[in-house]
Amino acid sequence: MKEQDVINISQRRRRKDSYVLPLLKGMQYTLKNFFSKKLTIEYPDQRREVNERWRGLHRLVKDDQGRVKCVACGLCAAICPASAISLTPYEEEGGTRYPVDFQVDELRCIFCGFCQEICPREAIVLTQVYDYIDLERTDFLFDMDKLDRPEQFWFQEKKGRFHKLLGS
Ligand code: SF4
Ligand code: SF4
Repeated sequence: MKEQDVINISQRRRRKDSYVLPLLKGMQYTLKNFFSKKLTIEYPDQRREVNERWRGLHRLVKDDQGRVKCVACGLCAAICPASAISLTPYEEEGGTRYPVDFQVDELRCIFCGFCQEICPREAIVLTQVYDYIDLERTDFLFDMDKLDRPEQFWFQEKKGRFHKLLGS
């Protein structure tokens, strides 16, 4: 073995006072951020704005007369990669079609947005509701009633229920 192949660890050790500079640098960083604008928020009392294109819980859109715009064509259910949508169509004598039952399994959904994109009537949209939680598997099966009011399922709206369960 040649002399240049030997690694002398003791030469690489820092001097005992070499921690002072990093310490000062750390304090400088802390002080700088202490007076800067806070990045954290008091969730869930405060909520971050998300982009308009955010893909959260679904809504079945209604027209001016309060009827669902959906004509139960089934395209959304057909394209859904997670098989999260199921519906039962009904057709009146005049040819008017609408779903008598429409269900989205929000636990199966991967929020890809395909259903919204393919809908010829813009009848199904993904909203900005991003923090829905619940206790039962069945609570995540959104029927036409729940799909009409996704904003009621913000975590904030259900906070009281969970506090009660947790005894807090
Ligand atoms: S967002 Fe995607 S996965 Fe979810 S229901 Fe629509 S098509 Fe299916
Ligand atoms: S694609 Fe649109 S119109 Fe067709 S079933 Fe789905 S929500 Fe209804």
